[in-house]
Amino acid sequence: MKRRAAYLRKLYLATAMIFFAATAGGCANYPWSFSRTLTMDNEISREQLVVHSDFDNAEQRRLFDQLAGMRPEILGTLALPASSDPVHVYLFGDEARYSKYTTAKYPDMPERRAFFVSEEDGLKVFAYSGEYVVEDLRHEVTHGYLHSIAPKIPLWLDEGLAEYFETADHRNPPHIEQLTSRLMQGGWRPNLARLESLTAVGDMEQIDYAESWAWVHFLLNTSEARVNLLQAHLRAIRADGSDRPLAEQLKQLGPRPEEELMAYLMTMAPRP
Ligand SMILES: [Zn+2]
Repeated sequence: MKRRAAYLRKLYLATAMIFFAATAGGCANYPWSFSRTLTMDNEISREQLVVHSDFDNAEQRRLFDQLAGMRPEILGTLALPASSDPVHVYLFGDEARYSKYTTAKYPDMPERRAFFVSEEDGLKVFAYSGEYVVEDLRHEVTHGYLHSIAPKIPLWLDEGLAEYFETADHRNPPHIEQLTSRLMQGGWRPNLARLESLTAVGDMEQIDYAESWAWVHFLLNTSEARVNLLQAHLRAIRADGSDRPLAEQLKQLGPRPEEELMAYLMTMAPRP
C-alpha cells in the first residue's frame, strides 16, 4: 500500500526552528492541563537519545533501539563527529493527547503527525504512536542528530537527509514514482542551485522534498568522490556555516550533474 504522503515544511519562529511531517488532525479531551515542561511516566535514554512516553510496551522499545541505531549509521555515512547534546523524543500513546498538547504549546503551527523543534532549551521531537510512527520518528530524529552537530545545515540538505534515513533501505518509492513520472512527462528537471536557494517557510513544494531525497541518494550511492564531496560540504557547514553552493562544487566532478541525476533516477523507475 502506498503510504500517506509525509511531506515536510520548515517553519522559523522567533526562538525556534520547527520541522514537521505529514498531516493529521483531530482533538479529544485532554487529560492534563498544559504546562511548559512536559513530564511523561516513561523515560528511556539511549546515548544521545532521550525518549519520554506516556505508555510502554515491547514494540516501542524495539523502535527506540532502532532510532538509537541510526546514530552511528548517520555519523558514519556522513563522517560527522558525535555530539552529546540530547535529542528529546516525546512520544504520545494516541493522536488526541499529542494534538492537544502540541496545539497548546505551539498554537501557530499547523497540525502535523510529527515534528522536530530546535529551541533554546533543547532539541525535541514530538510524535504519537500510530501507523506511520516508525518513518515519522526516523525522519524527525534524523533532524535531531543533524542539528546537534550542524545547526546551520541548509534546508534542502536537512530534509533530503531526513528523507534518506527515514527508511532503513533509504529508498522512497513515492519519491521515485513522482520524479520519474514528471521526468517522462517532460514537466520537470532537477536543479540543485534552485533547491539550494530555498530557505523560508513554504518555499519547498512536495516535488522539492523528493528532489532533495534524490540528490542525497545520488551523492551517497554513485561514487566515492561524490560521497567525499558531501562529507566535506557538511564539515564546512559545521565549521563556519559555509554557504558555498554544493551545485558549483559538484560540477568539478562532471559538468552536467543534473543529467547524471536524471539518468540515475531512471534506473530506479518502476517497470511498466
Ligand atoms: Zn523534515
